[in-house]
Amino acid sequence: MLLEKERNLLVKYGKKIFENNLTVGTGGNLSIYNRELNLVALTPSAIPYKKIKPEDICVVDLNGKEVECKQKTTSEIAMHLEIYRQRADVNAVIHSHAKYSTIFAVLHKELQPILHVFGFAGTKTVQVAPYATYGTKKMAEVVCQTLGPTAYNVLLANHGNLSVGVDIESTYNVLEELEFCAEIQWKAECIGKPELISDAEIDNLINKFYHEGY
Ligand code: 13P
Ligand code: ZN
Repeated sequence: MLLEKERNLLVKYGKKIFENNLTVGTGGNLSIYNRELNLVALTPSAIPYKKIKPEDICVVDLNGKEVECKQKTTSEIAMHLEIYRQRADVNAVIHSHAKYSTIFAVLHKELQPILHVFGFAGTKTVQVAPYATYGTKKMAEVVCQTLGPTAYNVLLANHGNLSVGVDIESTYNVLEELEFCAEIQWKAECIGKPELISDAEIDNLINKFYHEGY
């Protein structure tokens, strides 16, 4: 089987996002890009995370041509592939429907830098990509435009959230921080107006995250 390591990682992290309440039902999808082989492994469409096996993972080239696929590939394949085409620093993508992040996504409200972990964002705020129908080229376009060259996260208007990273582990960690920040901002705004971290300190935090990770 091609990309065995990547297949096992996608099964593992698919279960992790489901078990840790970072998505609901079969919502969301994950992928890993093996740049050496120029092949992408993606989760299949609409199979419960608990049931996905390594052989259910789909392997395609960067143009979406199926190389080894037993199941229907995720409906968001265009979005995953466009991110890999545009971001040379990204080798893993997780799209999910995490509760608190999705609350901000339906409000079209960006996340503000209110916590010391904000370097994970890669930008001064976590922005909301304009609404587009799921699974469309338009969706791929608006997500890439909003991510730009440096962001690691984006909220998807009236839909959910997406995180990217150098590998699946760091992408998962970033997704956890995204959801944590969304929960804290929501709760903080219930009782007051959170104080923002200064622009200079956010630059410092972004730099620290870039060089040191967590
Ligand atoms: P798939 O099951 O096709 O991956 O779709 C889930 C989803 O979240 C669509 O945006
Ligand atoms: Zn979705």
